[in-house]
Amino acid sequence: MDSRLWPCPPCGEIREFIQPTCLDGHTDDGGECPEWACVDCGSAVVFGDVGVVAGVLRLRQAA
Ligand SMILES: [Zn+2]
Ligand SMILES: [Zn+2]
Repeated sequence: MDSRLWPCPPCGEIREFIQPTCLDGHTDDGGECPEWACVDCGSAVVFGDVGVVAGVLRLRQAA
C-alpha cells in the first residue's frame, strides 16, 4: 500500500498516512484520490497541493 510521511495536525508530529479506499469516485477516471488517513489517529486529511502541508508546518511552528 502506498504511504506518505506528513505532519498530522491532531498528532502534532510527522506521521505515516495511507489512502483509504476511495468512496467518492476520485479514482473512477484514473485520477488520484486526494484523501489520506493518519495511521496513528485515523484523522482524514485532503492533500490537494503542497500549500496545505506548508500550512500545517506553520501551525506546528506556532504551537
Ligand atoms: Zn477519493
Ligand atoms: Zn494523526
